[in-house]
Amino acid sequence: MASPTVKLNSGYDMPLCGFGLWKVSNDTCADTVYNAIKAGYRLLDGACDYGNEKECGEGVARAIKDGLVKREELFIVSKLWQTFHDVDRVEPITRRQLADWQVDYFDLFLIHFPVALEYVDPSVRYPPGWHYDGDKEIRWSKTTNQETWGAMEGLVEKGLARSIGVSNYQAQTLYDTLKYAKIRPATLQIELHPYLQQVELVKLAKHEGIVVTAYSSFGPTGFIELDMDNAKTAAPLMEHDAIKAMATKHNKTPAQILLRWATQQGLAVIPKTGRPAVMLQNLDCFNFDLDEEDNKRIAKMELNLKFNKPTNYFSADNLWIFG
Ligand code: NAD
Repeated sequence: MASPTVKLNSGYDMPLCGFGLWKVSNDTCADTVYNAIKAGYRLLDGACDYGNEKECGEGVARAIKDGLVKREELFIVSKLWQTFHDVDRVEPITRRQLADWQVDYFDLFLIHFPVALEYVDPSVRYPPGWHYDGDKEIRWSKTTNQETWGAMEGLVEKGLARSIGVSNYQAQTLYDTLKYAKIRPATLQIELHPYLQQVELVKLAKHEGIVVTAYSSFGPTGFIELDMDNAKTAAPLMEHDAIKAMATKHNKTPAQILLRWATQQGLAVIPKTGRPAVMLQNLDCFNFDLDEEDNKRIAKMELNLKFNKPTNYFSADNLWIFG
């Protein structure tokens, strides 16, 4: 099974359904990546912060060695962590991340969050996380998003990234980037599900020719494993009456309904599971369409409920601004 692709403004084709790698444990990650490739996934969505890029690289290398796939058939995505936003830190950390993946270019490299933190050397702690001391202290860097974007453009010029993009940007940060970008962001990766539909931001991105990737398509489900309070109290999307009714009507699973709702809007999705049968199920989310009645019903489910906020993971008085 293969995912359809979408053409990015960089000229490259990106699969609309990829495989997410957040919270994939180090001991299972290489096998999970291998199995995902075997199931037909070609886009792998990683990040420094996920702490498993070395194991991702092992899975990719094994899949290439076994003849499942060639490097050029894969679309490998990774992200720049906040502590590496200073201009002189961008290229060295990208090179380290490429080495971990055992590849010499990323298909897409994203700014993970639009905020710069003070550099933490990888020999001190890797991945560094949010806190300078690994515990509580937040230390900002004075580097601007414009300066960091310039360094991201340098990665394209050096052939280390084919396309570059942003994540967790809202309209104003995106507008700002578009003012100075010599290379426009190819994609915008944001939390997006029926409880957080991001209608206006999606409209803006589409208008600007930027492809949106929706993460956490199943809403609270991915955050329950993190013991997050607002995820535990939200009604699980896969058990929502409206979604279950659509699943019955289209003879699909609730997960497939949630993924199709996004892909039908032209959004890319990056679900994750450790189970090969579920990998196949999630990739199989293109051969049916939701109808107008379904889409109207889902539109009514908007709650403006965001789970992936730093303040939901730890309390820090000066992190509220990401809300
Ligand atoms: P997810 O889409 O991976 O869903 C997570 C949960 O749903 C898991 O518990 C999984 O077991 C379960 N699940 C998956 N398929 C299922 C199915 N068919 N039926 C029932 N349960 C199923 O959510 P996520 O981990 O929040 O996000 C996906 C990916 O998005 C991440 O792996 C990561 O790559 C990316 N992401 C990016 C950011 C960012 O800041 N850019 C933030 C969060 C996630």
